[in-house]
Amino acid sequence: MIEPQRPSVIEAHAEAHPPCPRHADRAARFECPRCGDYRCDQCVVDAPWGESACVACDAAGRLRYPLAWEHGLDVVSTVRAALLDSNAVFGAMPERASIARALVFAVAVPWLAWVAPMVIVWAGATDPARDPEATVDAAVIALGWVPTASLASVALGAGALMFGTRAWGDGCSARLALRASGYAQAMWVLPMFVLPLVCCHSFAALAGVVVVLAAFVVIRGQAIATFARRHGGVRASRTRLVAALELLASSAPWGSFLLPLLW
Ligand SMILES: [Zn+2]
Ligand SMILES: [Zn+2]
Repeated sequence: MIEPQRPSVIEAHAEAHPPCPRHADRAARFECPRCGDYRCDQCVVDAPWGESACVACDAAGRLRYPLAWEHGLDVVSTVRAALLDSNAVFGAMPERASIARALVFAVAVPWLAWVAPMVIVWAGATDPARDPEATVDAAVIALGWVPTASLASVALGAGALMFGTRAWGDGCSARLALRASGYAQAMWVLPMFVLPLVCCHSFAALAGVVVVLAAFVVIRGQAIATFARRHGGVRASRTRLVAALELLASSAPWGSFLLPLLW
């Protein structure tokens, strides 16, 4: 389903090619971007996400799925990869990987994007008449509502993905749908840029909000469409339908969260 492409990082060696250390009869034309060794084309491993390395680096585990969260706790580079490299992240998602990790990420993103800054602002406010009830409300939102809305968003989004890929393609496993929907929560850092704009009432602010929301829909839609095409066997012309369905379903819990605030 995934066509590995020879990436540009591995360049044919321009000079005379020495023999491959493993295959004496073959020219070592490729330089491994991981270790710098020259190998023949039989010693190059192409990962589904477009990266390549020599067999030794692959055996040593250096050819890894490019989502830092799968190997550690680097939330910033994970969000960046999910936002800017959806073909690699959502198109080559490994089937046998942890669902729990994706779910923790899905809760961590809104927490780091909104809750932590709000807590810092709240803690910095030195109003002696601080309302204890407001403190309880804030704690309920931060500890209860945000994780609940995030996990509900992942579950509904995954359900929509499973339904959509089954309706218009070959379908995808619940495990993959949950992982894709979990990592798609990275897009919830984008509305963070809207919040400061909302405070200043102007046409420029409104235009900024529209631009950010449009970016949210386009980036998340692209990621989910890529997933549906590569993992769900959905025809390219139908991937936008799946993406729209997933976007609607996964936005529902956040909408119900925001409505009382608007009231
Ligand atoms: Zn190597
Ligand atoms: Zn070789």
